[in-house]
Amino acid sequence: LMLRSIDEKRRETLNKIIDIKGTIRLFCRVRPFLWTDKRRTPEPISSELDRVIVTSSGSRKEFGFDKIFHQEANQEDVFVDVEPILRSALDGHNVSILAYGQTGTGKTFTMDGTTVQPGIVPRALKELFQQVSLDKSFSYTFSMSMLEVYMGNLRDLLASKPALRANETVLRCNLNIQTDPKGSVEIEGLTQVEIPDFAKARWWYTKGRRARSTSWTNVNETSSRSHCLTRIVISRRGDTPEAKPKISKLWMVDLGGSERLLKTGATGQTLDEGRAINLSLSALGDVIAALRRKKGHVPYRNSKLTQILKDSLGVGSKVLMLVHISPCQEDLEETICSLSFAKRAKAVDSSRGLPED
Ligand code: ADP
Repeated sequence: LMLRSIDEKRRETLNKIIDIKGTIRLFCRVRPFLWTDKRRTPEPISSELDRVIVTSSGSRKEFGFDKIFHQEANQEDVFVDVEPILRSALDGHNVSILAYGQTGTGKTFTMDGTTVQPGIVPRALKELFQQVSLDKSFSYTFSMSMLEVYMGNLRDLLASKPALRANETVLRCNLNIQTDPKGSVEIEGLTQVEIPDFAKARWWYTKGRRARSTSWTNVNETSSRSHCLTRIVISRRGDTPEAKPKISKLWMVDLGGSERLLKTGATGQTLDEGRAINLSLSALGDVIAALRRKKGHVPYRNSKLTQILKDSLGVGSKVLMLVHISPCQEDLEETICSLSFAKRAKAVDSSRGLPED
């Protein structure tokens, strides 16, 4: 019975939002309370259908989103709203799905998930193979790459040589970002593996995740100060010789933690890492704001992250940003920063029928 209702729900949503409004969608996911959280009443964060309400010291602020995932939303609920954008990737659009937020708000849970509660990446991989098995008009091939961006360095997570430890020497930086005359971004030297089926895709993804975590001395602390990017390149061919082959990219990105380390009294390496993440996240914010404003100049060059994603953030591509927030009183300042980041990305675009704050 449960399976049937999930299936029905999925079909309903697909029919409703197959045509994604605008090119940049902003979702918010509120992390549920964990046993480690101190709970206080009244709670500072509440959420409605399309807005988050922050109440603190007598003031009330509202932040609008295209969709909110409340604390009780599960991985399936989130994925139902991600599926349409996967369809766009199969149709030939470049797509970026980005998880943004303070460390500990559930970015990795959303993107990666757990064995029993898989997140967006494993679900998307499964879904892609499922969708193409039903498509009689085209044939598809997929390939996968994974990389990490740490302090402006790019690290290949699927390379056969084991990755260096972060604190040993400077991470290997033999990957060059190139843009071809058509505007397509290429990362020279990045490993790209063919993925013929879901089992193989999952095997490579697990390998990439492991390569990321084993290279850090303190996984939770340090990996939150790097960005982890998974790229699927989709090649589509029609069954007639005239049908032009199409190539598109699907990026799924677990961004570094957005917390402002300068305020937390961090020093040395930690401070440098925090600065690097903050710089690249604000570069990402600037790019998104410029794109939504349809401003002539889009400042892609300001960070490695935006250079890599250049052809998958701009015209013709689809972007889904999932902003993660904590429900706790002690995280309120960071929560307001994350919500303000989203507001800035969204506020400039009222022409696409998105709700105003
Ligand atoms: P981040 O990647 O933002 O640092 P994590 O994904 O590591 O955060 O999440 C922090 C903790 O909260 C983890 O223990 C994770 O399992 C838990 N968590 C986050 N979001 C959820 C959720 N929606 N449901 C259940 N547990 C969650």
